[in-house]
Parts: sequence; C-alpha cells; structure tokens
Amino acid sequence: MNIEGMLKYQSLDRELNQLNEKFRTSDATVLYNRNMKLYKQTIEDGKRMSGVIGEHFVNIDRLTKQYEKLLADIDEYYKGVDEINDLKQADYYEKQLIKLYTMIENIEKELDGVRKELVRLDADAKTFFTNANGYFMNVKKCTPDMEKVKQEIQTKAKAVMAEQKEIEKTIEPELFAKYKKAKDVAKFPPLVPFDEATNSCMGCGLELSKDIAAKLRQDGGLEFCPNCNRLVYKK
Ligand SMILES: [Zn+2]
Repeated sequence: MNIEGMLKYQSLDRELNQLNEKFRTSDATVLYNRNMKLYKQTIEDGKRMSGVIGEHFVNIDRLTKQYEKLLADIDEYYKGVDEINDLKQADYYEKQLIKLYTMIENIEKELDGVRKELVRLDADAKTFFTNANGYFMNVKKCTPDMEKVKQEIQTKAKAVMAEQKEIEKTIEPELFAKYKKAKDVAKFPPLVPFDEATNSCMGCGLELSKDIAAKLRQDGGLEFCPNCNRLVYKK
C-alpha cells in the first residue's frame, strides 16, 4: 500500500483546506458576505411587506363587496317603504335601515383604517427600494475585490489539485476509496497512524479493540476507527 503517497495527498488536502479558509476569512470576502447578507435581508423584508400589502388588498376587496351588498339591501328596503301599511311595519323598516346604515358606517371605518395602513406601507416601500438599491450597489462595488482574491486562491488550488491527480495515479484504488470515505465523515486528518505501544488510534486516542488491533498489526493493516471514523494505518 502506498501509504506515503496517500499521506502526501493528505498534506495537499490540508493545503486546500487552508486556501479555502484564507478565502473565507479574507477582508474582501468578509465585506462581500456582510453586504450580501444585508441585501438578502432587505429583499426578505420586501417580500414580507408585499405579502402584507397583498392581504390588505384582499381585505379591501372583501369589504367593498360587503359594502355593495349592504347598499343593495338598503335599496330593497326603500322599495318596500312605499308599501308600508301601518306604523308597526314602518317602525320595523326604520330599525332595519338603522342597522344597515350602522353596518355601512363600520365598513367605511374599516376601509379607512386599511387606507391609512396602505399609505404608511407606501412610505415603507419607498424606504425599501432605497435600501435595497443601496445594498445592491454595495455588493456590486465590493464584488471585484472578492473576485480577485477568489481568482488568486483558485489558481493556487488548481496547482495543488493537479499535483494530487498525479499522486492519485500511484495509489491503490482500494486505499484511495477508503481515504475518501474517511474524509467524508471524519475530522481532518482522515488518515492517522496506529499507535502500536498503546493499541490506539492516533487521531482520537481511543484504545482499539483486540480484533482491530490484531488486524492493524498485520502488514498493510488498514482499519476504520469506530470512534472518530478515521482511517488508521500501520506505520
Ligand atoms: Zn479514532
């Protein structure tokens, strides 16, 4: 087993991790992310606001229909007034009409409340567009610096990956597959030596079972640590 090659490959993986970290923590990326976050938050706020405005319009539609229905009802009652024959009936119609007019008044009040709310939201919407535009311009302004850092780091990363490709050719597919598996689930480094003196995994320090330790003592011994999921090899 080409453990040496696999270890070299792993050290290049470490370099790639460091390059990623360098990109993530660079001033240009931090500034870009901060502006992007503000922009996205503003857009989310805008979506919420637009949802609220939409609800108000649904409300207006509902109130307007109720209003029209009441007007039609009042119209009906007026038609009925011509046919009133006694005072009792007149009294009844009057009470009904007062009830309808009160309902109409309430709807008007409700509509007025919605109108006022929409005027306030209109002002909020104007602020939203100013903010969103401002944050978008900030993102745009700091993008070239971030792109420049990205390009520099990507160039370095590509060279490292090319070197890895060459090394990969010298590694047994079985070893490589096991390394990949450990890399996916374990903390870095995924490939660690077996400590023969203490029978333990040198990644997490766990004392391995007799069975695993015995397998590791054989030539080419290669086992996964049941605790940290790293690939343990015999030095
Ligand atoms: Zn371990």
